Amino acid sequence: MSIIKGTEKIVNPLQESALNKKGLCDYVINVASGCLHGCTFCYVPSTPAIRTRQAQLKEKGVTDPQLDWGQYIFVREEIPALLEKILSRKKSWRETPEGKGVVLLCSGTDPYQNKQTASVTRGAVEALSQSNKRVRILTRSPLWVNDIETLNRPNVIVGMSLPFLDDELSRKIEPSAPLPTERYKAMLVGYEAGCRLYVAIAPTPPSMTLDAFRKHLEKIMCFNPEVIFWEPINARGTNGKRMLAAGLEFARSIMTKKSWAENFIQQWEYIEAAAKEIGCIERLHIWVDSELRGYIDESKLEHWLYRPTVEEWDKTRVEKAEEKYPQISDKNK
Ligand code: SF4
Repeated sequence: MSIIKGTEKIVNPLQESALNKKGLCDYVINVASGCLHGCTFCYVPSTPAIRTRQAQLKEKGVTDPQLDWGQYIFVREEIPALLEKILSRKKSWRETPEGKGVVLLCSGTDPYQNKQTASVTRGAVEALSQSNKRVRILTRSPLWVNDIETLNRPNVIVGMSLPFLDDELSRKIEPSAPLPTERYKAMLVGYEAGCRLYVAIAPTPPSMTLDAFRKHLEKIMCFNPEVIFWEPINARGTNGKRMLAAGLEFARSIMTKKSWAENFIQQWEYIEAAAKEIGCIERLHIWVDSELRGYIDESKLEHWLYRPTVEEWDKTRVEKAEEKYPQISDKNK
């Protein structure tokens, strides 16, 4: 199938999210359906966001929305205008202790995968900032650096997925995403500019050793992320089959629940030990999976599920936002 691009309409882009269990957010905005990065491990095509829309996507020319993942994108261009209206009318705002009222862009696509999604993302960040909302960007693309003026704000934190810095391995695992070394450079640019940053060392392949985590964390700390999220690759669903189809033989070693859990626990020990050595253990935030029950001490699991991150969304930052947007302080009076 050749790449299919288009637009789509959406009624309400601001959706409440269960990703507070990962300390990420209380709301999510997805600027498109589909994602051209086509990561082999991506779980999005097997979620209801895609599975329940098979017929609609087929009408748009997508033969198999799950198997053709990475080959189509439908951008939701009206999001900024819709968001302004929704925010002006919204009376209550969900703010759980672990989600902190944050809006994540995005959980089901990449907000900066091309100029079109970047434009929608920029508009959404502007609208959210004017309403004094907290925003979390999560991307694999260095394109966000072009928007550094918009994103370098106290109410915005930018994160990139950087599971490793091996460009060759990346071509096999996340074939159409920008190279990890390019992503790393973007984070250094953000750091120099004074942006708030975080990183997702996710998902890591089973080949990560203690030494690999040690070296990776040393590099990561050069851009001083406020939090370091981590999880290993999960290969137990249709994504496992896509990984095998992409020639990733390592997927075989983690395809059963037991082998996946054992690998998870082994890598967890490695990254914790490495983070202690490097001196960044307080920033490490484990994205646990409740499927680990029975394989790991229950208290360890409970410790991480629904845990707030160490990121600061403090008063000083809100005050700085008010300097930039005087209308925020007017609203708060
Ligand atoms: S960038 Fe994210 S949403 Fe896009 S394919 Fe990769 S994992 Fe999936």
